[in-house]
Amino acid sequence: MIKQYLLSPGPTAVPERVLLRMAQPMMHHRTPGFSAIFADTRDMLQKVFQTKQPPIMLSSSGSGAMEAAVANLFSTGDTVIYVNGGKFGERWGKIATAYGLNTVEIAVEWGQAVSVDDVQLALDEYPDARAVLLQASETSTTTEHPVREIAQLISNREDCVIIVDAITALGVIDMPMDDWGLDVVISGSQKAFMLPPGLAMLALSDKAWAMAEDKADCNGFYFNLLAERKSQKPGSDTTAWTPAVSLICGLHEVLTMLHDEGLQESFARHNTLAKATRAGCEALGLKLLSSSPATSATGVYLPENINGAAFVKYARDQMGVTLAGGQDHLKGKIVRIAHLGYYDAFDVVIAMSTLEMALAHFGQDVVFGAGTAAAQNELMARLPK
Ligand SMILES: *Cc1c(COP(=O)(O)O)cnc(C)c1O
Repeated sequence: MIKQYLLSPGPTAVPERVLLRMAQPMMHHRTPGFSAIFADTRDMLQKVFQTKQPPIMLSSSGSGAMEAAVANLFSTGDTVIYVNGGKFGERWGKIATAYGLNTVEIAVEWGQAVSVDDVQLALDEYPDARAVLLQASETSTTTEHPVREIAQLISNREDCVIIVDAITALGVIDMPMDDWGLDVVISGSQKAFMLPPGLAMLALSDKAWAMAEDKADCNGFYFNLLAERKSQKPGSDTTAWTPAVSLICGLHEVLTMLHDEGLQESFARHNTLAKATRAGCEALGLKLLSSSPATSATGVYLPENINGAAFVKYARDQMGVTLAGGQDHLKGKIVRIAHLGYYDAFDVVIAMSTLEMALAHFGQDVVFGAGTAAAQNELMARLPK
């Protein structure tokens, strides 16, 4: 037997009490019992989004909510600007293109944050642009983009919205939707929300809802946000179609945990875990991939003589620790270590000792404990004084 640890930036580990909650007998979704759970879940979720808007839940992975945002707000021929600094930024372009939109790409070097000036330039060059689409945390490059500053460029534009894929940011970093003037914020179940994959959550500002109402083309059928708003609003407390009942029950449990912890405390925990992971990696001589490192996951370059794919495979198959590798031109070059969701100090310790032992296996000169010790220094912040 090899004990398994899931330390990848999605899916993430699911707490036992959430697994047990989801193992309860199936209930019918058109019942007062389910509606009570749904309403409670929606109201707790709203606090995580930090908005006055009731959020919407969809049965899909996170990409479904990305598609729903594009499908419900824009019409063929509309121009949108998107930030492409990694696989998920690239996805915005693919979705928008699939819906016949004119896409303006802001290409960003992988591992860099988009420059606010570049977004301003694009807005100046395309005054009819109806949106800026970006990631709060680009998971493929473990990079955070300056969402707040970009939102400020858009807030006084009548017919332009900012759409934020916050799938590895919501619940991880403080990103108050209404205070920052974010128009669409998107999340998914299998990352910070420590659930199995299959549920997407999003919230829309008044401006974004007005766009959805005024849209020329059809808003789609299954992912029709106007239909969902009608069904899911307080008092209706149901979904347009059969919801992911078990996942919503699981989300209720997760949100109870999150509210017991406190939102600010959750942000502080993630911040400490991220700092500890970076300190540990740097103590092992591993260079950070990002110049604007994410709070959700840390990417580092492996020494050049190590094949990253073999490294990740060895950690998973021989040590039981699932880390993530790199994609596209970073394939085989980097390793990504998650620190979001159901994750605490000793998960960082496991990650660090895994790196040390795997580096040693691949012939590196490693002082065992060097990365772990550097991480532990930061992790002391998790303990009461
Ligand atoms: C995981 C993730 C997604 C969504 O991917 P799904 O596989 O559809 O859940 C989108 N954006 C980011 C930044 C992600 O990390």
